[in-house]
Amino acid sequence: MNQPSDKALVPFVSVDSMMRLIHSIGIDTVLTDLADYIEADFKRWELFDKTPRVASHSDVGVIELMPTSDGEAYGFKYVNGHPKNTAEGLQTVTAFGLLADVYTGYPVLLTEMTILTALRTAATSAMVAKHLAPKGATTMAMIGNGAQSEFQSLAMQAICGLTSVRLYDLDPAATAKCAANLANSGLDVVVCATPEEAIEGAQILTTCTADKQYATILTDNMVGSGVHINAIGGDCPGKTELAPGILNRSDVFVEFPPQTRVEGEIQQMPEDFEVTELWQVILGQKPGRTDAKQITLFDSVGFAIEDFSALRYIRDRIKETDFFIELDMLADPDDPRDLFGMVQRAKGQ
Ligand code: NAD
Repeated sequence: MNQPSDKALVPFVSVDSMMRLIHSIGIDTVLTDLADYIEADFKRWELFDKTPRVASHSDVGVIELMPTSDGEAYGFKYVNGHPKNTAEGLQTVTAFGLLADVYTGYPVLLTEMTILTALRTAATSAMVAKHLAPKGATTMAMIGNGAQSEFQSLAMQAICGLTSVRLYDLDPAATAKCAANLANSGLDVVVCATPEEAIEGAQILTTCTADKQYATILTDNMVGSGVHINAIGGDCPGKTELAPGILNRSDVFVEFPPQTRVEGEIQQMPEDFEVTELWQVILGQKPGRTDAKQITLFDSVGFAIEDFSALRYIRDRIKETDFFIELDMLADPDDPRDLFGMVQRAKGQ
C-alpha cells in the first residue's frame, strides 16, 4: 500500500495499474460507478468552466486537449483520434489525463486514459440511454466492433439491462474479436453479416466506427420509429456516421452544443438546428423521451466533463491502494524561491 509523502509527489496510474484496479473492483461496478459520477457532474453542469476541446487536425487524424474545472479541481485529457492507426498495429484513440487542485495549482493525479476513455464513453452512453431509450429495451445493434465496442455493450448491460447485442463491422475479424470477448458476459451475442441484419429487432442502435470521412453507417430507411440511436463515432469535423434524413426525424440530444455543432452528426445540419442539452434532461428541466414512437439520438462527441468525472473517480478509488506509483514531477525546493539553489545542491549527487 502506498503511503502519503511530504514531497510534492504526484500519484500516477499506469495502464497496468488501471487494469488491476478494474479487475479488483469488477468492470460492471466500475461502469456503473462511473455512470453515477458522470450523472452527478451533469447535474452540476452550470458551475463548470466549459470550452470546446482544442483540436489540432492533420490529414490522418487529430490531437486534442480537453480541459474543465468545477472551481475546486481542474482536469484535462490529452487524446488523439487516428483511424488509420489500427492498420499499423496502433490504437485509433489513446489518452492520458491530469487532475489538479485549483487552490495550489498542483497536480493531484496523472493517469492513463486510453482504457479510462473507453470506460467513460461507455458509461456516458448507458447513462444517457437510461434516460432516453425506450422502456424495456433489451437488444442493441453494435455497428463498429473496434476498441470501444465491448465496453459499450457491457455498460448497456450493467446500466440499462441489455440482454442481447447484434454485432456488425466491415472487418469480420473485428466482429469475431468482439464476439469472443463478450462470450462469457451473459449477453446473447449475434454476429451479423450486414448492418441491416444488425439492426433487426434492436431498440438501441450504436454506431461506433472510425473513418475520417462523411460516412453513412445508417441510411434514413434503415431507422424505424421508437429506437434510440447512440452515435459515438462521428466526433470530428468531416467525420460523421448518419444520413442527415435521420437527424431530421429524430430528437437530438447533445453534451455541449458549441463543440457538438463542429464535431458531431449535427455538423451536417444548419447552425440553428434544434438540439436538447442532456444536463437539462437529467435535471428534469427539458423532456427526454416523450412517446414510444419517437426516435431519440445521442449525438456523442465526448466532452471534458465526462473525463473530469472519470478522473475524480480514479482519484477516489486509488486511495489506500497500491494501484499507483508516485512521480517526482514537481520541483519542490524547501525555500520556494530558491529553485536555483536546489539545482546547484544536486550537482555531483
Ligand atoms: P477502432 O478503430 O478500434 O474501431 C473502429 C471499427 O470501425 C473498426 O473495427 C472498423 O473496421 C470499423 N468500421 C469502419 N468503417 C466501418 C463501416 N463503414 N461499417 C462498419 N464498421 C466500420 O476505433 P474505436 O476506438 O472503437 O473508436 C470508434 C470511434 O469512436 C472512433 O471514431 C473514435 O474517434 C470514436 N470515439 C468517440 C468517443 C466519444 O466520446 N464520442 C470516445 C471514444 C471514441
